[in-house]
Amino acid sequence: MKILIATEKPFSKQATDGMAAIAREAGLECALLEKYASVDVLKAAVADADALIVRSDKVTADVIGAAPKLRIVVRAGAGYDNLDLAACTARGIVAMNTPGQNSNAVAELAISMMIFMARNQFTPGTGHEISGKRLGIHAYGNVGRIVARYGRALGMEVSAYDPFVTDPAIFAGDGVRMASSAAELYANSDYVSLHIPTTAETKGSIGYELLMSMPQGATLVNTARKEVIDEAGLMRALDERTDLKYITDIAPDTAAELAEKFGKRFFATPKKMGAETAEANVNAGLAAVRQIVAFFKEGVTKFQVNR
Ligand code: NAD
Repeated sequence: MKILIATEKPFSKQATDGMAAIAREAGLECALLEKYASVDVLKAAVADADALIVRSDKVTADVIGAAPKLRIVVRAGAGYDNLDLAACTARGIVAMNTPGQNSNAVAELAISMMIFMARNQFTPGTGHEISGKRLGIHAYGNVGRIVARYGRALGMEVSAYDPFVTDPAIFAGDGVRMASSAAELYANSDYVSLHIPTTAETKGSIGYELLMSMPQGATLVNTARKEVIDEAGLMRALDERTDLKYITDIAPDTAAELAEKFGKRFFATPKKMGAETAEANVNAGLAAVRQIVAFFKEGVTKFQVNR
């Protein structure tokens, strides 16, 4: 049984050594394809693979078509919009992510982004403190919960909204106010930290109206995905409200225009870096191999995303 680790942007050596060791111990073969030059190289490598581990690499119907033995694909990370789930399902291939493994890295980035914007992007001048400010967490999943905890530790008043987390006791237990809707959350938050997944429902769902409802001087922090933002609405809101700010880990299509028009009120990391820590890299890689071993040995499909 062969696991192919195919990463255009490689895991660390510590991660791949650990991954190979877990596979070996379970009696599975592990092959590594890094920095591959084209999809054709990936297609050739996947031809005899029973399992595939990727990072942000695109697993398209074309790639799946070139992998006749494939039974499981694991995205080492949280977001799995790079996997063609319909194509996996059509072939009976189990698709998984490794939720929670990079959450702390993303949460730390989200907090640092708030401080960066509050301090004029670390340029001279009087900034603000985030302590005492209202933090709204949009989606209370793995990342959102950690951001909430860190926000509280920094003295922020934390609220959260998640349509699928409806038990008030969960929020109360974390010392977090449960907002009744996204609209209510945005209207009452000096900072909103965005953690919604990209789905048909969330694509383009954050735009003009939500942004315009935010309090004076508010900042939207996006470590989720660019696709959830309605960029035309964002542009219009930043244009009309000279107090609003936007910082993102995923550069918008209109990044150049936003930077030129709005200066220090906008910032995008040069490359997505939320999960780019040595710790997250290792955690996600090891979890991916463990999930594959559990799937082959015991049929465990706990983290399947294409049910
Ligand atoms: P998660 O699956 O643990 O949590 C997602 C939460 O979103 C869940 O609680 C779910 O109930 C909620 N949700 C689903 N649909 C929603 C909707 N329509 N409105 C509001 N909430 C909704 O995921 P996570 O690990 O917290 O990660 C969140 C997102 O962050 C991922 O989907 C991914 O796109 C992004 N991410 C980015 C990086 C990065 O490098 N910047 C790294 C990891 C994750």
